[in-house]
Amino acid sequence: MRDLLVVGGGPAGASTAAWAARAGLDVLVVERERFPREKACSEYLSPEATRDLDALGVLEEIEASGAAKLTGMRIVADDGSAVLGRFPVSEHRRPYRPYGLALPRSRLDTAVLGAAAKAGAEVLEGVTVERLLFEDGVVVGAMLRRGDRRWEQRSRALVGADGLHSLVARRLGLSRRGGPRRLALVAHLADVEGMGDFGEMFVRSGRYAGLAPIGGGRVNAAAVVPAAEGRAIARDPAAFLRAELAAVPELRRRVAGARLVRAVMVAGPFARTARSTVTNGALLVGDAADFFDPFTGEGIFAALRGGHLAAEALASALAGGAATRDALRPYRRARRQAFLGKWAFERLAALSATRPRLMRRFTHHLAGRSAVADLWVGVAGDYVSPCALLAPRSLAALIL
Ligand SMILES: Cc1cc2nc3c(=O)[nH]c(=O)nc-3n(C[C@H](O)[C@H](O)[C@H](O)COP(=O)(O)OP(=O)(O)OC[C@H]3O[C@@H](n4cnc5c(N)ncnc54)[C@H](O)[C@@H]3O)c2cc1C
Repeated sequence: MRDLLVVGGGPAGASTAAWAARAGLDVLVVERERFPREKACSEYLSPEATRDLDALGVLEEIEASGAAKLTGMRIVADDGSAVLGRFPVSEHRRPYRPYGLALPRSRLDTAVLGAAAKAGAEVLEGVTVERLLFEDGVVVGAMLRRGDRRWEQRSRALVGADGLHSLVARRLGLSRRGGPRRLALVAHLADVEGMGDFGEMFVRSGRYAGLAPIGGGRVNAAAVVPAAEGRAIARDPAAFLRAELAAVPELRRRVAGARLVRAVMVAGPFARTARSTVTNGALLVGDAADFFDPFTGEGIFAALRGGHLAAEALASALAGGAATRDALRPYRRARRQAFLGKWAFERLAALSATRPRLMRRFTHHLAGRSAVADLWVGVAGDYVSPCALLAPRSLAALIL
């Protein structure tokens, strides 16, 4: 019997495991892949995520590994109008680092999972959770499988950190779908022209594309489109992605001579959320708890920070006797406090992003108002409170 069984070794599971092990819990992480593994992601970390990486003891290693440092975000509307927001806004609103990092998930996730092991968690890679074990309706562990071998693992508490299509959330009856059904295609390109030290989003009706340098001369290229286009994507994902990029006049020119250096990965459909993130004996963290749309690029931050909050709640619940729903409630409250404003911002931004008229209005209004643009990317970067956007000056910049 372990104190904690963590399902999934991505940023959410690894962060939960690291903080729980540091708190003295006996933690087992099971991850079905073998790391380093690739993950369909735009691979940009909001500036505030550097605080969490530093607390986990991996920031230095990640920075030294050649991660790109992005100092802002550029948003381009379908008429070519653009706005560039830079991260550090003022002395009062400084992120932990004045840049967001961008690097392949294969490297980032391996480093964070390494932090969990270093903290004392046992990590089993290549092990899949097939189903959950219940006693009197309460989850008490999981059935694990590696190759042909299956075994039961019991635990005092279980953490669902198994991502967007979380089996744990479904088996616990906590999974809920909602929001726009979109698919994403992601690839690594070399020889893209005109890259700066910022991420870029190109929005069109019902879809958007993004570019970000990820170090080593590579660029992460992504496109998010309606899920209804799944069949066309399945026929030839690389051709689909090229066509999506070429449909944006500026991108057509910039990617004309680009080479594909990592196969196109497809992810989705989004979005999903949980009816509740806690139940008797278990909680959900990261994408298993909530994922809406990648437009504001904050999932990794939410996974890292959410893991910390989850570990605190679990340690305190188990110290008090058992991880009952009531004992885990502080986790729900802590998540709401940490993420509620950002959830609203993220949903608004993701829904507006695919409405061209709204986006044009946004870029035209903010083009000459760099301070307000900086504020917007600060909110996206997780170090400016979304409430700052409700200040009269920020609102006026959009409306007038
Ligand atoms: C197209 C796209 C672009 C994105 N871009 C960004 C971005 O630029 N910045 C950002 O911050 N976020 C971005 N995100 C979101 C980000 O990828 C996620 O929020 C983040 O990966 C969540 O981490 P996680 O640990 O919850 O889940 P994951 O990273 O998905 O990890 C879950 C792990 O669980 C394992 N697992 C699943 N099922 C089982 C099982 N049954 N047994 C054992 N192991 C299992 C998986 O193998 C996986 O390793 C993007 C997402 C998408 C889809």
